Amino acid sequence: MKLVAKLKLAPTPEQAAALLVTMERFNAACDWLAGKAFGDRTANKYLVQRRYYAQLRADFGLGAQMAVRVLAKVCDAYKRDKKIRPTFKPHGAIVYDQRNSRIVGLDRVSLATLSGRIVVPFLVGEYQRTLVDRLKGQADLVYEPQTRGFFLYATAEVPTPEPGIPQDVLGLDLGIVNLAADSDGSLYAGAVCTGIRRRYHRLRQRLQAKGTRSAKRLLKQRRRKEQRFQANVNHILSKQLVQNAASTHRALALEDLKALRDRIRAPQAQRRVLHGWAFAQLRSFVEYKAALAGVKVVAVNPRNTSRTCPVCGLIDKANRPTQARFRCVGCGLEGEADTIAAQNIRALGRAAVMLPHASLLTVSPSGVEASSRL
Ligand SMILES: [Zn+2]
Repeated sequence: MKLVAKLKLAPTPEQAAALLVTMERFNAACDWLAGKAFGDRTANKYLVQRRYYAQLRADFGLGAQMAVRVLAKVCDAYKRDKKIRPTFKPHGAIVYDQRNSRIVGLDRVSLATLSGRIVVPFLVGEYQRTLVDRLKGQADLVYEPQTRGFFLYATAEVPTPEPGIPQDVLGLDLGIVNLAADSDGSLYAGAVCTGIRRRYHRLRQRLQAKGTRSAKRLLKQRRRKEQRFQANVNHILSKQLVQNAASTHRALALEDLKALRDRIRAPQAQRRVLHGWAFAQLRSFVEYKAALAGVKVVAVNPRNTSRTCPVCGLIDKANRPTQARFRCVGCGLEGEADTIAAQNIRALGRAAVMLPHASLLTVSPSGVEASSRL
């Protein structure tokens, strides 16, 4: 599977200047060529190359390989929508490949610039370290003007083991009260993140009321900080969940992505922007970590999973007296609402794993009941 490592470069001031100049020239070349391609109404790489390659190199002083990247980037952008002329901002990403970039050792990268090759150190965390020796040489150089930082988004090809036959399913509910709950009864990271989100929400209101430029800047900084925090929480949480499933030879069942998107689009979405983002990220972290660990992931339709009783199968809104509690009006089963939902998701997951050819969407609530008795 393909994974992307975000490597923070640590260039000297001279190297940073060289990268920035190269980036500006690369994008100026893209923008010029986009005008030509649009004028000619062609996104055919070979045609564009035959007509403009020489001029591209001469006028912009680009090396052969970089000129080829410009051609590819412009033609790809134009191909996506033939109605508009693509434009390129001065600090858009530069695309590097194995011919104009190379990883040197474990923590440096050699990059072509207008003033020749430079070898730039980069910072590696634990996650990136596992990827560095698998980097394929395909990478985007990105500049973040707020921090004046350079980042390399490098693609790595990582082998994934064939998932074994699961012996059971661990259900996972992504919730509002708790960030996640599993069918074993563990609840994850609800309180901490809710507190953080609330604090952020209050701060945002205060700063938005101020409306000054410095308030806006502070707000942006805060948001990035919250997002880093949240990403860190998601990494830790997804790792725990996947390890739990792997060590007990279980598959993971999650609600399917469409349902998740609908939930994010729900009213009050504004207030849940960060939360919605966190959901989607947590899900993607779980998916790639599961793939790496050989844990099967099943997507289930979460309809009614929050109001179905996993013991007697009764579906009733009244089973959910509050957001946090579940109490079955039929049999009296009581519990944490998110845990009950996770148990229902587990039952749906079991049904799907045991009947691999059945459509996930046709597993009915009575199927839930039947499979939870198996
Ligand atoms: Zn019941």
